[in-house]
Amino acid sequence: MISLKHVTKVYPGVTALDGVSLTIDRGELVAIVGPSGSGKSTMLNVLGTLDRPTSGSVHIDGHDVARLSDSRLSALRATRIGFVFQHFHLAAGVKALDNVADGLLYTGLRPRERRCRAADALERVGLGHRIDHRPHQLSGGERQRVAIARAVAGDPPLLLADEPTGALDSASGAGVMDLLRKLHAAGTTVVIITHDREIAAALPRQVRMRDGQVTDHG
Ligand code: ADP
Ligand code: MG
Repeated sequence: MISLKHVTKVYPGVTALDGVSLTIDRGELVAIVGPSGSGKSTMLNVLGTLDRPTSGSVHIDGHDVARLSDSRLSALRATRIGFVFQHFHLAAGVKALDNVADGLLYTGLRPRERRCRAADALERVGLGHRIDHRPHQLSGGERQRVAIARAVAGDPPLLLADEPTGALDSASGAGVMDLLRKLHAAGTTVVIITHDREIAAALPRQVRMRDGQVTDHG
């Protein structure tokens, strides 16, 4: 599903990724761990094609990312990859249903069909009763579940999550982790950055990073 070979990402004065090689197979559930500043988010952004590497190769789902134009890359990202972030990234003042439906804009589906799929996705994350709520009317855990519904509404084979429980209390965090495990059990490849040792220890594979390098492939 994912192959990084000798990937570097250099910002002015900072080498965020320093020769990272990593393979993740279809159907895996992987934790990425490491101290703050070790390059975890940079790596997730590179393997989610949100960012291009300075050097090295990135293959996602059979595609050599360097060979794709920006528009082909956007299409790959929109159809094959779901993202979940620590601070949810929901549109303020917009109903849960529309936050999720707007994630399907790229599909070319009619608005009615997008809303129908969004309602299904919200049902799947246990928020069928909250579709008309706006983010400020939802708890942190509920907001993250809306964000997960948005990430998976288009059934992407790959789900990338950057500290998805980082802004949640432990009970809500556990609920979010249950949901990510269910998606994995249903066949999605899931990669989760986490600071939480317990969460990481409970996942089948842990990749460790330090100073822009992968120190343990897990
Ligand atoms: P982590 O997610 O493990 O905390 P990051 O990948 O966010 O680490 O950052 C790795 C290093 O790259 C840090 O030193 C950070 O300051 C730097 N960095 C990340 N993004 C940028 C950017 N857009 N511009 C400059 N430096 C950056
Ligand atoms: Mg980070």
